[in-house]
Amino acid sequence: MSRTVGGVPVQPVHMASCHCGAVRLEVELPDGIVEPRRCDCSLCRRKGTIVASVPLERLRVVAGQDQLRLYQFNTMTARHWFCGTCGIHTHHQRRSDPNEYGLNVGCLEGINPFDLGDIPTSDGVNHPSDREPA
Ligand SMILES: [Zn+2]
Repeated sequence: MSRTVGGVPVQPVHMASCHCGAVRLEVELPDGIVEPRRCDCSLCRRKGTIVASVPLERLRVVAGQDQLRLYQFNTMTARHWFCGTCGIHTHHQRRSDPNEYGLNVGCLEGINPFDLGDIPTSDGVNHPSDREPA
């Protein structure tokens, strides 16, 4: 976890927004940025975002709910939300744990995700939900 990023403190309730500002999120991050990672699945490799885990109840859309568009693919389980105006992906409800959102760390106001240093990459190509049951 990271409670500061490049010297910038992560607030216990931190604001996040899309690029045009239509969509604003309030995110409770009492433990800082948890499990930041990249993913090499077919969607994430195109977006290139760094995501962090946030329990569903700790993320609230406080503006622009009507601007959010939903994108789903493959098993149609994960719910990928993005701003219909600027196209920035803000968060998604995860397929591997539907009780969590994956938050786009780059949307956190004042936080530069490049200051997080080396970020592990999840093996999204071989997603756990795609493997044959043992
Ligand atoms: Zn926007």
